[in-house]
Amino acid sequence: MKLPTEGKTRADVMASLERSMAGDLAWDEGRTFSLVYGVGAEHLRLLQEAYSLFMATNGLGAGRIFKSLSTLEGELVSMSADLLGGPDCPGNVTSGGSESIILGVRAAQERARAERPRVTRPEVVLPASAHPAFDKAAHIFGIRNVRTPITKDYVADVQAMADAVNENTIGLVASAPNYPFGTIDPVTAIAEIARRHALHLHVDACVGGFALPFLRKLGQPIPPFDFGVPEVSTISADLHKYGFAARGTSLILYRDQTLQRRVGFKLDDWSGGPYRTPTMAGSRPGGMIAAAWAVFQHYGEAGFLELNRTMLDTSQRLRRGIEAIPGFHVLGDPAMYVWGFASDAIDVMAVADAMAERRWYLGRQLTTPPSLHVVLTPIHAPVVDGFLRDLREVAESIARSGRSGERRSSYAT
Ligand SMILES: *Cc1c(COP(=O)(O)O)cnc(C)c1O
Repeated sequence: MKLPTEGKTRADVMASLERSMAGDLAWDEGRTFSLVYGVGAEHLRLLQEAYSLFMATNGLGAGRIFKSLSTLEGELVSMSADLLGGPDCPGNVTSGGSESIILGVRAAQERARAERPRVTRPEVVLPASAHPAFDKAAHIFGIRNVRTPITKDYVADVQAMADAVNENTIGLVASAPNYPFGTIDPVTAIAEIARRHALHLHVDACVGGFALPFLRKLGQPIPPFDFGVPEVSTISADLHKYGFAARGTSLILYRDQTLQRRVGFKLDDWSGGPYRTPTMAGSRPGGMIAAAWAVFQHYGEAGFLELNRTMLDTSQRLRRGIEAIPGFHVLGDPAMYVWGFASDAIDVMAVADAMAERRWYLGRQLTTPPSLHVVLTPIHAPVVDGFLRDLREVAESIARSGRSGERRSSYAT
């Protein structure tokens, strides 16, 4: 394509954009199980209004021109830190979970440079189930990641992590929870390894950060995972997942200002004069900060509790229905409404193919055993019965035909 010679009308452009979406999947009807964390039409309107009000603003150098943004970012950090057991912990809004993780790993590296200058080949020890963003970070910073096995309960094997620590180790990772299984690693036991060796501990609460605090208030048995555990150094928590913010919004939280300062970037002898940024980004969209703030203020604790009650109930109904199908079972003991399920009886990849023919798009995971993945949101509450009806029919038909499906994960397209 080339840039059009003459411009088109706004109406024509918008019509083309709308037509371009014709082949996209119906996330707003609850037919997909990841990528979009929707609540419904009213929530989407709130996001759009808050985002467009701040659309033109820029978080770079916020505080001078856009005082509003530095206030909103500060309030967002403080509301989140309070939920995560460290009301005074500093932090920053980032572009997503991957950037938050990159900054958490950066904090570990900068801390080791300051405190243990003799480490020249830094290593991070992390469970096999931790997010690939840790490998992206390791790749960027020249760190070696040592991945340790997970147990038959699909959580970090604490002994394997302890055994992997050596004189080059600078940090440990725990997920609360991990994405493939939704299981929480034993954070307090991993924290004990961090304490013994004075290591940085990053807790990846990208998917759980804005879910677990509310589930705990609803009486769910959520083990300690946040700044309440004294060894936890940094936490990543995605606002664009269960904080129901606009896509491209996450948080990195630091135990203290020293860590935050070490991660921040400074250049003093640029021809433009001193330049400083707290995250990987230069310019930062103000819209995402305003939209996340608007959602927190609009829902409040009561609203988040209500949404979590709905998602928990949806998850329990779905799980019961799935486990009533012969051979089907959920992997491990998921802490929230994100989990994988497998079958001893039939090929789940064939199930994914057949469900897609019926317009249900499950995540495909090459876990052991291979599994299908659900990420539930309030949008899924009304679709559980219809989904289960189709799943039962599909499972029966595959049990008869012995059909198998294409072995691939959803994350490599
Ligand atoms: C989603 C997720 C990430 C990465 O987040 P992005 O926003 O996709 O970059 C990291 N860790 C966990 C556990 C996640 O669920």
